[in-house]
Amino acid sequence: MRIILLTILFISSLTHIFGQKEAKLKISPLTGGFYVYTTYSTYEGSRLPANGMYLVTDDGVVLFDTPWDTTQFQPLLDSIKSKHNKSVNLCIATHWHSDRTEGLDYYKQQGIKTYTTVLTDELSKKNNKKRAEFLMTKDTVFNIGQYSFETYYPGEGHTADNIIVWFSKQKILYGGCLIKGAEAEDLGYLGDANVDEYETTLKRVQKKCPDPKFIIISHSDWNNINSLKHSIKLAKKLKKKNDG
Ligand SMILES: [Zn+2]
Repeated sequence: MRIILLTILFISSLTHIFGQKEAKLKISPLTGGFYVYTTYSTYEGSRLPANGMYLVTDDGVVLFDTPWDTTQFQPLLDSIKSKHNKSVNLCIATHWHSDRTEGLDYYKQQGIKTYTTVLTDELSKKNNKKRAEFLMTKDTVFNIGQYSFETYYPGEGHTADNIIVWFSKQKILYGGCLIKGAEAEDLGYLGDANVDEYETTLKRVQKKCPDPKFIIISHSDWNNINSLKHSIKLAKKLKKKNDG
């Protein structure tokens, strides 16, 4: 009997896993008007999630980063429209890698105001990535509808241009690929990283964003608030290893 039960459990959990695997776009409410959306791509042979975020305001929807999966640019807009009866007006990409920027061109064509920093734009151009229509020359405060948030460049880390977005009132830190999961074994892809500066950069984020309630990160679960602290530890270790 126990074996049968276990077998059933095993099969149903497999179905569950495969069922999830088929979903190409996942949207999870965070708090208030904040939602995390997830698309997937294949990285080194395994399916990897990429999280972005959107914010529903009185003055339209703001998108933070674009889907990684190129088939999901329009489905994301459609889902937002049917869920909230609002359109996306603005999109900010947080560094030049494809998992953040891939949809910039498409969204610009849809009349969405797309933004990156000047530095991101330079690196996107150099690496043949999609580019935004509008460029930020420095850290920028956006006031959209009832919300206010600030982009912040803390220095080089995951890439030379990575920025974070800080919602000081809601205490939400949108960390993108700079911050890794609380259970991550390493800092992920370091091909464009600054290994020596990574720790200092993360500490600047920590200083800029005191006591965050939520830390949204690109490739892991965002429900564990220790992600930033853990990433600082990993960055410190990495620097030591590199210096040693
Ligand atoms: Zn990434």
